[in-house]
Amino acid sequence: MEERGKIRVPMREQTAEKRIKNFDSVPLGYSEEEAMAEARRCIQCQDSPCKMKCPINMKIREMIEKIAEGDFKEAYLIAKEDNPIPAISGRVCPQEDQCESVCTMGKKADAINIGKLKAFIGDWAMRNGVTEELFINERDKKVAVIGSGPAGISCAVDLRKLGYQVTLFEALHVAGGVLQYGIPAFRLPKDIVDYELSFLRKMGVDIRLNNIVGQNVMLDELRQEFDAIFIGTGAGAPRFLNIDGEELMGVYSPNEFLIRVNLMKAYDFPRHDTPIVCGARVGVIDAGNVAMDAARCAVRLGAEEVYILYRRTKKESPAREEEVQHALEEGVLFMELVNPTRSLGSEFIMELDTVVNALGTVPNRLFLGRTPELETTSWGVIKVDENLMTNIGGVFAGGDSTSGGATVIQALGEGRAAAASIHNYLSG
Ligand code: FAD
Repeated sequence: MEERGKIRVPMREQTAEKRIKNFDSVPLGYSEEEAMAEARRCIQCQDSPCKMKCPINMKIREMIEKIAEGDFKEAYLIAKEDNPIPAISGRVCPQEDQCESVCTMGKKADAINIGKLKAFIGDWAMRNGVTEELFINERDKKVAVIGSGPAGISCAVDLRKLGYQVTLFEALHVAGGVLQYGIPAFRLPKDIVDYELSFLRKMGVDIRLNNIVGQNVMLDELRQEFDAIFIGTGAGAPRFLNIDGEELMGVYSPNEFLIRVNLMKAYDFPRHDTPIVCGARVGVIDAGNVAMDAARCAVRLGAEEVYILYRRTKKESPAREEEVQHALEEGVLFMELVNPTRSLGSEFIMELDTVVNALGTVPNRLFLGRTPELETTSWGVIKVDENLMTNIGGVFAGGDSTSGGATVIQALGEGRAAAASIHNYLSG
């Protein structure tokens, strides 16, 4: 282990001082030499604990072996066998709780930087125009996928590979779900999202943007036209605190704040025509991914003081370690053990110009309201059986629409599992 290097090949990053003035990616990515050096630290355990801990069982060891050899094309093709979006998931997956948490190297040294190697290999393919070649045996059965977030993407890709005619319905004017409208470009550059998603069209998925199922077309109509349906509508509706003042100007739900900033590019106003009100003192309630993203956007929008108001302590934040560390470096301040619902039995007044309530999200009520025949659980998510089928035959669901909010890789995994179930269902 000694000669392999106990310490990770460091990732070059924009300095905090520089990056708080732009929305460009914070990590600058590995060079080919750096990626090979990091990959060569891997001891190639035959039992691949990293793969076992990955929700989509990516062949991580094999991918790293090829990177170590400098065979980047083969590494990319291996990654793509199980993961349709390696450059994206390499950037946003909580690897420290998954593959990297069980890395054998990690027992005595730094775990292999699996996330950054995944991102490297996806970026390398983009730079070099490498895509996987597919030989699809066409089938005449048609499947509708509703929602183009990670769950919808992986379901559509797997079904298309199996030869089904797949039509993807997306409410927004761009595909990608949270990858486009939620996660800011400094964590997930949008050219990378566009590139990885362009594969869907290339493989023959018919993507219909600006199509809200439940409004432009009803679920019943889709059931008549398609042989099976996958619902991957996510959990895009905000949760509120239900306290006085939530309706005031300058108090945002995370969805509104992040959609304005990320999807509508309010940070580039007036070149993009969506404005945003971001005052000098900003408070963000909660400390998960969403809160950290909102706080770091506020810093970049020029706020002088940005507070994370959290009912627990920094250490307990459900955001990724890297996000918390980056936020602290960028000057975000933590106020711990505070909660606007008086959990401490005491009150204080804090003057803030802008407040973002990032308490999390729930499934969209518009879709569920228009499909009363679809059974939901007592907490409002779509109910599915062990095959991810809803109470309606041939209608499957997965991702945040059934979990209420999880991770990109979890949603990818459920999209894949649903595709397998749909294939079983359609092939009898
Ligand atoms: P979504 O990504 O929400 O996609 C659902 C899609 O369905 C959307 O495009 C939506 O427009 C569309 N849709 C909804 N209703 C309809 C309808 N009626 N008709 C047609 N289309 C419809 N996870 C991580 O692993 N790492 C992170 O760092 C991370 N950061 C996050 C930051 C933010 C700000 C947020 C909000 C979430 C974050 N998450 C993160 C969670 C992760 O993004 C989600 O778990 C994941 O995107 C869920 O995927 P999904 O496909 O189920 O839903």
